[in-house]
Amino acid sequence: MALCCMMLASLAIADGGASAEQAAKVETKDIKTEFAERKQLFDEVSEVTGIPWNYLAAVDQYERTLSIANPKKRPRSAGLIGIYYSELDWAGIANPDQTDTNPASIALFGGRGKDGSGDGVADRANDLDVLSTMASYLLTYGTGEDQFKLALWNYYHNQRSVERIQQFYRIYAEFGRIDLHEHAFPLPLGAEYSYRSTWGASRGWGGHRMHEGTDLFAGHGVPVRSTCYGIVEIKGWNPYGGWRVGLRDLNNVYHYYAHLSGFEKKLKQGDIVKPGQVLGWVGSSGYGKPGTQGKFPPHLHFGLYRDNGKTEWSFDPFAYLKKWEREERLRGQKKSGS
Ligand SMILES: [Zn+2]
Repeated sequence: MALCCMMLASLAIADGGASAEQAAKVETKDIKTEFAERKQLFDEVSEVTGIPWNYLAAVDQYERTLSIANPKKRPRSAGLIGIYYSELDWAGIANPDQTDTNPASIALFGGRGKDGSGDGVADRANDLDVLSTMASYLLTYGTGEDQFKLALWNYYHNQRSVERIQQFYRIYAEFGRIDLHEHAFPLPLGAEYSYRSTWGASRGWGGHRMHEGTDLFAGHGVPVRSTCYGIVEIKGWNPYGGWRVGLRDLNNVYHYYAHLSGFEKKLKQGDIVKPGQVLGWVGSSGYGKPGTQGKFPPHLHFGLYRDNGKTEWSFDPFAYLKKWEREERLRGQKKSGS
């Protein structure tokens, strides 16, 4: 009884002043609900088809990243599922009715659209219909990993797409959930470091044509950490980047770290990493043969690259670094406050 009253009282106070922090809380809750509902869809369709849930999640997430990278060609739906079908794909090329929702006539005209929700309508805007349509395509190959990869190859005709989806389902399998979009700052917040926007600067280290990234200056040996939930795509020596490591995250963004003095001993290509996990240490490697150090002051070169399924391009990480730094600081405050 007393607890209940206290809760009501605190709710009343919260209602009194809607601060940005409270708004952020509501938003976080909505995102959590969205992830939970989406996961439930994967589980449902997985149970019916026998396709592992993380395969479905990986295709869905890959498709979502394609839509983010190509918003004009692939307008995003308001639903939970990110898989995109054009009207033509859905209804069939020869279908005189491009908005057809009748599963029988869609099938007759070779359209992909299926009714997954059981209401007799194949609706491009219905999450279960869209996910079931993809699942029934995958199922024509089988439910094993090799069959899945073959299905993906025949769907995208692109090795890059197959690799990305493989990376995604391995990340999902490792954590057993899909809400894996938290980020961390690449250096420990307690360390001494400094950085400013160095995007496009003609002078900088690690870039080729122009400076594609942000230089974070810190002492030799300061830990370098994963900024995301992701997978180690590349690790080793590069003449410009020195000892460098590249991570792929679930947004199909490549996180590139260069000039390290060394790598965390156990880290290897293909490892799944999480935000804050140590990858290596700040150094000044690069600009020469493997092992070359000290041609410039120690710093971490950090770059971000987006993949649209065909090409990859760099974008300015500065605003993201600021955001991740701020978010991590807030999380730290919450922890120490409770
Ligand atoms: Zn740099």
